[in-house]
Amino acid sequence: MSISRLASTIRESATLSLNEKARQLRNLGQPVIHLGIGEPKNPAPITALLSSSAKLKAGDIKYVPTDGTLSLKKAIIRYTEENYGRLVEPENIIVTTGAKQSLYNILFSILNPQDEVILLAPHWVSYPEMVKMVYGIPVVVVPEDGTFIPRMQDIEAATTSYTKAIIVNSPNNPSGAVYPEDLIANLVDYCESKGIYLIMDDIYHKLVFDNATAPSAYNFTKQDKENTKIIVVNGVAKIYGMTGYRIGWTIAPKKLVKVMTNIQSNVTSCPPVISQAAAEGALTGMQSVVENLRLNIQNNRDILMQEMRSFSDVVTIKPNGTFYALPDFRAYNTNSVELAQFLLEKAMVVTVPGSEFGMEGYIRLSVSGSAKDIIEGIERMKWAIDPNAPNEIYIGDRKLIRDWL
Ligand code: PMP
Repeated sequence: MSISRLASTIRESATLSLNEKARQLRNLGQPVIHLGIGEPKNPAPITALLSSSAKLKAGDIKYVPTDGTLSLKKAIIRYTEENYGRLVEPENIIVTTGAKQSLYNILFSILNPQDEVILLAPHWVSYPEMVKMVYGIPVVVVPEDGTFIPRMQDIEAATTSYTKAIIVNSPNNPSGAVYPEDLIANLVDYCESKGIYLIMDDIYHKLVFDNATAPSAYNFTKQDKENTKIIVVNGVAKIYGMTGYRIGWTIAPKKLVKVMTNIQSNVTSCPPVISQAAAEGALTGMQSVVENLRLNIQNNRDILMQEMRSFSDVVTIKPNGTFYALPDFRAYNTNSVELAQFLLEKAMVVTVPGSEFGMEGYIRLSVSGSAKDIIEGIERMKWAIDPNAPNEIYIGDRKLIRDWL
């Protein structure tokens, strides 16, 4: 079969393929614990369900404007004003099929072949692939060992005349780090002075713990909304637990939104109207659902930190947001793919190798599942690799004895 040179360099999303693997093992009746998952368990908010089912009942399921329905855009305008203190107009917004499509459309709209995009490790798995998919070049900046916060001097050193954008994801998938205010302020200053786009992937911005807030780039811009280099990506997937609805959006200068809309009109026409109705329901409904989710995840994060403390030689930096933690397992294995495979094979625990995020030797653990799974999953991991852990364990109804350490 003939496949394009470009397409054959693009890897499958590692996290989605792990989900598939876990599903297959579960279907075979295996007692798998999925600590790799990137979605909360809660059902969609009732207001989302009601508003999408009203649409369904009316039967009026047709094409809608490419860049999103006006009523959803109005809800996004209100959301942006309330959460960012930023007033935007409908023409500054494009609704997309998930935040993923927003990011892809942005990169498609701003990059020429061979342009560079700076990614800050640990970075989300799809960024490098998306940059490559539009013939761009991902340039990864790695933080100082033992931290998850990039340094401005390293970002400056990575900048060339081809640098078109920097992607920032704070709160960060996979580390759970929230970038400090001075870093965000410096990034805004730097990008605006250099004419580089600052793409803020804010998909987790409300999932922050211990009274923290994720600093918004808008707080530091000196440019108005049509001249700013800041592009903000957001969506309903993570904070409302609505991953399957596939609704995200971008806030950007009107000219860029127009270009993104042209592209989208040729690719998907518009995001599904039923999902847009659901997103509108979530955004305009009771926001206590977000707070409940946040508190639940924060509690799971505390349980994870407690469990990780008794794991000899694993360093876990406490996450300040998101569903994830990224412990350093280099004392056990510097090859994270090998380690993740071992954990799946021996302990039936799904994790995500840090190499996928540009952090070899680390393993991403998710706390979006149940507290029980976190406790049992980490106990199994300790049993599999930590010689100080007891060498017998029950996995499902089988008693297993460790004979490899
Ligand atoms: N950005 C980040 C950092 C993510 O973790 C995800 C989802 N895993 C997305 C974007 C994509 O979000 P959506 O499901 O809305 O496409």
